[in-house]
Parts: sequence; structure tokens; C-alpha cells
Amino acid sequence: MDRAHRKTINFNIGKYNAVVPQGKTQFAELTIARERAKNAKWRALENLDAMLETFEATITSRGAKVEWAENAEQALSIVQKICEEKQCKSLVKSKSMVTEEIHLNAFLERHGIESVETDLGEYIQQLDGEPPYHIVTPAMHKSKEDIAKLFAEKLGTDPNLTPEQLTLVARDVLREKYRKAEVGVTGANFIIADIGGIAVTENEGNGRLSCSMPSTHIVIVGIEKVIPSMADLALFWPLLATFGTGQKITSYNTIITGPRQPNETDGPVDMYVILLDNGRTKILADEKQRESLYCIRCGACLNACPVYKNIGGHTYGSTYSGPIGSVITPNLKDLGEWKHLSHASSLCGNCTEVCAVKINLHELLLDNRHTAAEEGMAPFSEKMAWKMWKIAMLKRGWMNIANGGLKTRMVNLVGKSWSESRGKLVFPAKSFNQQWKEKNSK
Ligand code: SF4
Repeated sequence: MDRAHRKTINFNIGKYNAVVPQGKTQFAELTIARERAKNAKWRALENLDAMLETFEATITSRGAKVEWAENAEQALSIVQKICEEKQCKSLVKSKSMVTEEIHLNAFLERHGIESVETDLGEYIQQLDGEPPYHIVTPAMHKSKEDIAKLFAEKLGTDPNLTPEQLTLVARDVLREKYRKAEVGVTGANFIIADIGGIAVTENEGNGRLSCSMPSTHIVIVGIEKVIPSMADLALFWPLLATFGTGQKITSYNTIITGPRQPNETDGPVDMYVILLDNGRTKILADEKQRESLYCIRCGACLNACPVYKNIGGHTYGSTYSGPIGSVITPNLKDLGEWKHLSHASSLCGNCTEVCAVKINLHELLLDNRHTAAEEGMAPFSEKMAWKMWKIAMLKRGWMNIANGGLKTRMVNLVGKSWSESRGKLVFPAKSFNQQWKEKNSK
């Protein structure tokens, strides 16, 4: 167990826990606000086809181009084609989990294009060659000393720089990257259907620079990010800010409705929006799991999860970690391969309690387990264990045949993988049933 690592993440989650209650005070009726948000996402997802078409028609009328990508490969090849057309050698990007999902940076590197993360946390992670640790705070597992050491190694700075000085170093490096980049890539926190716009919310201004300084702006966004109307932002922006970082509103909130218009003096010449499916329509088709598409990626469930707090973000081995990652990863990817994530939960329900849009996360985790078992995906040892348990439970006499020692040996042999990581299961010499019988026969 890495105690220093655990201490750092618990310290940072503690800071989050201290500020969130203050942010929540801005809502007169927080439960109603969360329910309204859930209803708006329900409406958006139930009418997803129509909402996306409205978005497409409106934003293309102002000169943006909308591309539809069924999977990661298609999204990457669209980006590649645009970069070739624009003779792009370097690209700046703001924080976006969907670009992590499709492994955009590695793809661009293979094609000789420099892709620079401009969110400070993401920049730190990129310097260290690590994926984000958390969907909102990518470098939450690093202390300020770790970051000073990293900058010293990678950028040759003084290892004793303060966080403020480190930020200024990053700012200097990144300004130069913005100046050179031919393309800027952003995600989108929301796709606004009625006005044909995308909403980007961030604290550093790097998203705004990424979408406005380079002459080409590419947005890559999952199709589930739709909200019905501009009016809904009045609810979603404060909700995301409070549940994400405890703020009442995030520092920079930008709505982009197309490239530079004839009467405008700045902004990109070209704008592309890549609408990514990559397994989302499969989730949409599942009536129970559909609810997981309401997620606004606030990260609250990660911070509340006792499992996440103890094992950390990288242990999940998936782009999306924590409770929401454990719900959606097996469905976005392959249930057989990723079903173990749905077992990485105590089902305490804390994730459901804190979810900004009231997704029944713990029930969805249970549903994943149920589907995996229904489809016969459990390993042989688990199937055997349940078979034996069923036989024993249906006939008390069978359980009394073996004594405690034999039961201990058998159970730990069949459930070897369980006892290896959790300690042995030890049966008492006599079962309660036997003791009861003995007591009453005296
Ligand atoms: S599932 Fe809920 S709490 Fe977790 S990231 Fe999504 S919106 Fe936030």
C-alpha cells in the first residue's frame, strides 16, 4: 500500500469536501435542482436523434461542419484528414475526456503532429507520460513537491519553485504553443440543441484560447452531451461548477455557435464538430443503463466513493474511473472484459447520494453484475461456488456432513482468488445448526 499516495488523494478530496457545501448554498432547493437537471437530460436522451439534427442544422447554417463518428477509429481519421488539409504540425487542446477515450494524443504523435495539453493538470500529466487520474482534476494524486520535481526534470526549472511560479512557467511554455498551433481541439461540456451551440466551461481560460487562437477549431464530443435548450444552461452550469469543484460558477464559460462570421474580427476560420458514438447508442438502447448517459462528468461520485479514495484513479485501468467509470466502461467497451469494474464497489450507495443528476449508480452497477451473470460470463470457479452453495442451502443435511475444517479447506480452494486478496474464510468447528441441535437435545 502506498500510504503517501493515499494521503495526497485524501488531502485533495478533503479540500473538495470543504468547499462543496458552500457552493450548494446557491440553490434554494438543491433536490429540485438535481431532479430538474435529470429531467432535462431524460428529455434530451429520449429525443436524441431530433436534438442532434436540430443542432447540426443550426450550427452548419453558420458555417461549421458537423461530422458523425461511429467509433474511435472514424473520429481519429476525421481529425487526421482535417490536419492534413490544414498542414497541421502542432495542435493545442483543452481538457477533454472524450479525446482520452479515443487516445487522440498517441494517434497524433504517431502521425508526426505535436499535440499539447493546455489545461495545467493535463499538461502536468502529459509531461509525466500519465493519463488523467480523475475526470475533473487530472493530477489530483500529485503534491506540489511532486510537480516541482517533475518540472525540474522535464523543463529544467528550479526544483524549489512554488505553485505560483510553476504556473507561470507552464503559462510561458503554453503561450508559445498557442502562437504556433494551426489547430485547436476542445471537447464540449454541453451540446445546446436549440441554438446549435456548444458550451465549454473551465477555470484557466485555456479552453477559450484553444478554440479561438488557431485558425481551425475541432470539437470532439460524445453524442450524449446534449441539453435541450440554452435556458437549461442556467441550471447546468452552476450545478456542474458546484458538484465539480465547489464553485458557484466556473471562471470561464463559453458558448460557441460557429466559426468566425463575416462581421467578426476574431475566432477560427473553420470549425468542425465531431459527434462521437463509440458505444453510446448501445447504452441508449438499454432501458436501464440509458440513465448513465445523463452524466455531466462533475466527478462528485469519484470523490465520494470509498473504493476510489483507497485505490485511486489509475487502478481502474480505464479512461473513466470511479463509480460512473465502473458503470459505463463495461457497456462502452466489452462487458466480458470489463465486468470486474462493476464488482469494484461496496454498493454503499454514496455515489447515488451525491450524483449531480441523481443517476442510480449503485443500481446500475448491480445491473451490470446481473447482466454478466445472466450471459454466463462468470469464471468457472465462481459458477462452481454458487452451484455448491445452492446445493448446500437447499439441503441442510449436506452442510452438516463436513466439519468446520473441511468446509474451510473446500471454500478457500474453490474461492482461491477471493481469499488471496481478502484473507481466508474460516468456518467454526461446529455450525450454528449443530450447536442448536446439541443444546436442545440436552
Ligand atoms: S455520475 Fe453523477 S456524480 Fe458521477 S460524474 Fe456523472 S454526474 Fe457527476
